[in-house]
Amino acid sequence: MKSDKAEAIEHEQPTRDLLHAAGLRATAPRQAVLELLLSASRPLSHSEVVEHLGTELWDQATLYRNLIKLVEVGIARVASEVGGVRRYEASARQGGHAANVHPHFVCTACGGVTCLPGVRLVADTPQSAPAVFQQPALEIQVHGRCDTCVSEA
Ligand SMILES: [Zn+2]
Ligand SMILES: [Zn+2]
Repeated sequence: MKSDKAEAIEHEQPTRDLLHAAGLRATAPRQAVLELLLSASRPLSHSEVVEHLGTELWDQATLYRNLIKLVEVGIARVASEVGGVRRYEASARQGGHAANVHPHFVCTACGGVTCLPGVRLVADTPQSAPAVFQQPALEIQVHGRCDTCVSEA
């Protein structure tokens, strides 16, 4: 069991460094939330985070506080807000799946959100493009019906 423990600690290191670099204490729930966002392949809502990490010790409120904290310091960002549900992802700088600011596909039928990392919105003449194009918090959403909903229709 000794080696298991060493592995676990090694695994936690990057999240700890990221938190420290952002001026946050690397508490266990904070590391776990960040780890989850970094390993996720799509943005996660608060309830999905609770589904993955929720315990008696780490209740909804604890996880929510930590999620918000990560957004406050810029480690995570709100990737989409559909129907009042915010979904979060690790921000570009942290090397999460969001290696660049990418659009998100939102299914208008089931509300599912997926990343479109291969799709980029490029301004032909960046000088004349609105300043919003330069913002890392830029939110681009593509609406339509996902494959599942199309095939069920
Ligand atoms: Zn759908
Ligand atoms: Zn994404």
